[in-house]
Amino acid sequence: MTKKSLSLAAVLLLAAASARAGKMRVLTTTVYTASLAKTIGGDKVSVESLVPPGFNADNYSPRPQDLFKIHKAKLFMMIGLNLEDWARDLVSAANNPDLVEAELYHGIKLLDKPAGSVDFSFGDIHPFGNPHFQTDPEAGRILAKNIAEALGVADPADKDLFAKNLADFEAKLTVAEKGWKEKLAPYKGTSILTYHESWDYFAEYFGFPIPVPPKTIEEKPGFVPSPRRVEEVIRLAKDKNVKLIVTEPYYDVSIAQTIADRLGVPMLNFDLYGIGLDPKETDYISMVDDVVSQVAQKLGGHGH
Ligand SMILES: [Zn+2]
Repeated sequence: MTKKSLSLAAVLLLAAASARAGKMRVLTTTVYTASLAKTIGGDKVSVESLVPPGFNADNYSPRPQDLFKIHKAKLFMMIGLNLEDWARDLVSAANNPDLVEAELYHGIKLLDKPAGSVDFSFGDIHPFGNPHFQTDPEAGRILAKNIAEALGVADPADKDLFAKNLADFEAKLTVAEKGWKEKLAPYKGTSILTYHESWDYFAEYFGFPIPVPPKTIEEKPGFVPSPRRVEEVIRLAKDKNVKLIVTEPYYDVSIAQTIADRLGVPMLNFDLYGIGLDPKETDYISMVDDVVSQVAQKLGGHGH
């Protein structure tokens, strides 16, 4: 039988059979939760992130193959909080009644939660709170715990192994956190300003005040700032003694650079979805390691 003559149904059956024989197929929406799932799942799982490295999960456009990946998966883990609004329709269209789904934000103390009722007419892309957890190690710890739990639901037979891998990860993280805090301690209390609200948890954890206003360079999450907004941001940032501008490659880096130049402070352009692209970032801990090193370097005046 040639490959061509296989019907789609037959291909699906073969895929299901090979999945049963081997590792559990796990899907995440981000590269950093995929990394945590690999760490906790070990050799029991094959893990893939739907959003590839180097792409922003905030405004990802699903590709045709994503449907097939969800169809074949056993476990699908999202961050939640509307970060993956684009994934809802995919899951219902994927025709996978056995799929185990998990939202990973549970237990994290949310920042930027709107006080009143949610008004979608303003187009706020984070209507239920800030979903950008990746650079807060304590959020990473909670995500890892939630991932271990979800893996155990999808594959109860390997629950003990996942618990052991989680404990190993937590121990490593505790050691790493001590080093990160020491490295950034000299700069604690320094005001920073970010393009999008992707660093709020980092700023809170390590003690870098983000002045409000302007809060972010964006006037509203997901909107490119107008020239009038840029001037306002520069004025406010000067007033509040901002010492570092932070952006990610998905945004208008030239605006961030202009603001940094006008303030005479360094700018950091860091890909928060870069695990697997940057050789220094092979997993969650080495990614946070890289963030901490680059922030320290910029604030120490060596990376201007
Ligand atoms: Zn966002």
